[in-house]
Amino acid sequence: MAVIPVELAGRSYEVRVARGLLSDIAQEAAPFLRKPRVPIVVDANAKAHWGSAVEQSLASAGKEPRWYEVASGEGSKSWENLARLTDWLLAEGVERGDHVLALGGGVVGDLTGFACAILKRGCGFVQLPTTLLAQVDSSVGGKTAINTPAGKNLVGAFHQPSLVLADLDTLSTLPPRELRAGYSEVLKYGVLGDATFFDWLVEKGSDVLSLEDAALEQAVATSVAAKARIVAEDERETSGARALLNLGHTFGHALEAETGFSDRLLHGEGVALGMVLAARYSARRGEISREDAARVTRAVDAAGLPAEIAALGLDCDGRTLADHMLHDKKMDAGTLPFILLRGIGEAYLARDVELADIAAFLDEQI
Ligand code: NAD
Ligand code: ZN
Repeated sequence: MAVIPVELAGRSYEVRVARGLLSDIAQEAAPFLRKPRVPIVVDANAKAHWGSAVEQSLASAGKEPRWYEVASGEGSKSWENLARLTDWLLAEGVERGDHVLALGGGVVGDLTGFACAILKRGCGFVQLPTTLLAQVDSSVGGKTAINTPAGKNLVGAFHQPSLVLADLDTLSTLPPRELRAGYSEVLKYGVLGDATFFDWLVEKGSDVLSLEDAALEQAVATSVAAKARIVAEDERETSGARALLNLGHTFGHALEAETGFSDRLLHGEGVALGMVLAARYSARRGEISREDAARVTRAVDAAGLPAEIAALGLDCDGRTLADHMLHDKKMDAGTLPFILLRGIGEAYLARDVELADIAAFLDEQI
């Protein structure tokens, strides 16, 4: 088992990464299960695959799981669900010192975390992430949120879990496409800040994706440690360190917007292609070598993730894509803040990127 300590908001908690954690949850999470009834928020797929493992472990310790099930998908991060969930938690008698378990991907984690942030002005919660993306990204850092008609993740709170149990077994039931999408964020930690990890992933990426024990644990643990380190440096997104986590995300969001935030392009797929574009754009500015940009492209391609805009079959020009970037960025005198590369493992925040130049670059890529 890998144990990564996270120090945030004056508190510390552990992220444990191993196989078999859910089958042993009554012991693993024992200090946070004070009462006989254990409230668990879960999404339909996570419950179908992993509900009985959790149920059996709790039963063996004389605990009764109380399930709150949400539909799979982004639509569950809504005001309506938040209201229903908080009412349910109140009806279950959850108090400030209690803990709610969140079993599922980032959707369940974000919704549950936000509900727990506001329930009785803050109750505890334990993250049980069951997607690779949730294990390496959304369950670490304390951001919680729901979506509103104005956009994704616009209403939320910072609220840290008391414990994160990343059970690697859960990844075996994940659709392969979701696994690869999560792997994109793993690769991101290498590209943005750790050239050694990037090299290791080039060598071991196929082992990680085939869920080979040692490689998978190392990839998840290294990613969690990277995220924990960056977030601890910049807890509330004020110093700029956390912005590096957005590598590939500005290009990625533009592509996601153009494909209508649909199944045509998963978030992680957009990020993968976005990283390739950030690397190529950095090479175009002469900040990294063409060979380094090609290495990023090869790593993305080798993971079965999209590495060329052409592969998406979009019918738009560079300007259309660049315009999508204006929605989630503040433009300053025609320039956009952008995460670019000075080398593999050396991402930085560039403030001199002109929208017109990005549009011209994207025209070359389409
Ligand atoms: P998700 O929660 O929608 O899960 C993806 C799919 O996998 C769903 O269909 C789900 O039902 C299914 N699933 C989950 N676990 C499974 C399992 N073990 N076996 C089979 N199927 C399973 O999506 P996600 O990719 O985990 O997370 C995306 C969400 O995370 C977005 O809402 C995003 O905004 C949020 N997010 C938050 C942060 C943060 O810092 N809080 C960071 C990144 C992303
Ligand atoms: Zn992301």
